[in-house]
Amino acid sequence: MSGAEKYRALKGMRDVLPPEIDLWHRVEQTAAAVFETYGFREIRTPIAESTALFTRGIGEGTDIVEKEMYTFEDKGGRSISLRPEGTASAVRCYIENQLHTLPSPQKYYYSGPMFRYERPQSGRFRQFYQIGVEAFGSASPVLDAELLSMLRQLLVRLGLPELNVQINSIGCEACRPTYKKVLLEFLEGSRDGFCPDCQRRYMSNPLRILDCKVERCVGLRQGAPRITDHLCEDCRTHFTTLQTLLSKLEIPFVVNHEMVRGLDYYTRTAFEVTSGNLGAQNAVAAGGRYDRLVKECGGPDVPAVGFALGMERIAGLLKQLSSAETGGPMVFIAAMGEYALYEGLRIAEKLRSEGIWVETGDSAASLKSQMRKADRLASEYVVILGEDELTAGEFTWKRLKDGSDGRAPLAGIGPFFAERMVSSRKRVNVVE
Ligand SMILES: [Zn+2]
Ligand SMILES: [Zn+2]
Repeated sequence: MSGAEKYRALKGMRDVLPPEIDLWHRVEQTAAAVFETYGFREIRTPIAESTALFTRGIGEGTDIVEKEMYTFEDKGGRSISLRPEGTASAVRCYIENQLHTLPSPQKYYYSGPMFRYERPQSGRFRQFYQIGVEAFGSASPVLDAELLSMLRQLLVRLGLPELNVQINSIGCEACRPTYKKVLLEFLEGSRDGFCPDCQRRYMSNPLRILDCKVERCVGLRQGAPRITDHLCEDCRTHFTTLQTLLSKLEIPFVVNHEMVRGLDYYTRTAFEVTSGNLGAQNAVAAGGRYDRLVKECGGPDVPAVGFALGMERIAGLLKQLSSAETGGPMVFIAAMGEYALYEGLRIAEKLRSEGIWVETGDSAASLKSQMRKADRLASEYVVILGEDELTAGEFTWKRLKDGSDGRAPLAGIGPFFAERMVSSRKRVNVVE
């Protein structure tokens, strides 16, 4: 083999680099801060599980299990799959660790990579990242409303524009079979006209035909019966109470009768939040209730509700919004000569310990060349330390953006920049 072999990331997988990673951190940190005010705690589950967990938990008839799982045999001959979503793992974790013995509801969040082997298309990856939450142990619509409120608060805090909350109820094991029958009867005549996916769904998961995006499928299902007209008494009460709660919480929403979740385990509430820029709406989060799943996975009969956010989508939207941000260091220290070098390094350490991003120049280089480097790094401020400044116990500062400058006492350099950080938002690890 030649030494010049070229290695590339696998198809549908990619590296996430600075400055994009800053947006990811912002989403992760804001999510953790918001979720924890609602009593959600983080769990970290393995990225691989036994394949049976997903076939059982997600459902055999789903696109994910039928076509998209990364499944392989390990050296012991066990069938293993990389997790295609987070809920089944969270449920397994809840049961295995007997979290149902703790007071209800138990509320958890997680984040990390998920894997689906699908044809890569724009904005879709085979390894993608999600942040998810799951709340176990309450069937009350109050919990659904609380989750939607928490989700909305997170998206608002992140600054996502044009938020649009859509909800639906997809019934329960008592009323959904009746609706399925009514729906199949309606679709039967046009069955041959549907796209290949929907022909398969007709047998395995007919509700999914309702949210197929293929044009001829949209046309053929015009006038299809609505599931909300076929809900049982309990499901109907649950759904109307949820709507009342959302109105009381002043969360705008629309009922979308065609929104069904792709996964078998959902019951009652299904929801999706989209965000847009200039009218183009993108789904950024989706979730719903799954009251049967814990029991189906071998646990006690515990209702649950959750949602997941797509990291790539949200980071992409944030990027469009924040194109003006430069992402350079707050302070660049240009020291002149050996003594100033030591002083400069000491000051750099002090500022960094206060959460300020600092870069230092090459003290052997000319001031002009150090200024050029500060500019190339998109630094906000340059601190100049020469013999003159050090004798006076001062530093010279320059703000590159507007050319303003001045001198200030070295003893107060920490507060000097800490104050200016507040407006320029460059402090590291600070959640807004
Ligand atoms: Zn029902
Ligand atoms: Zn279709």
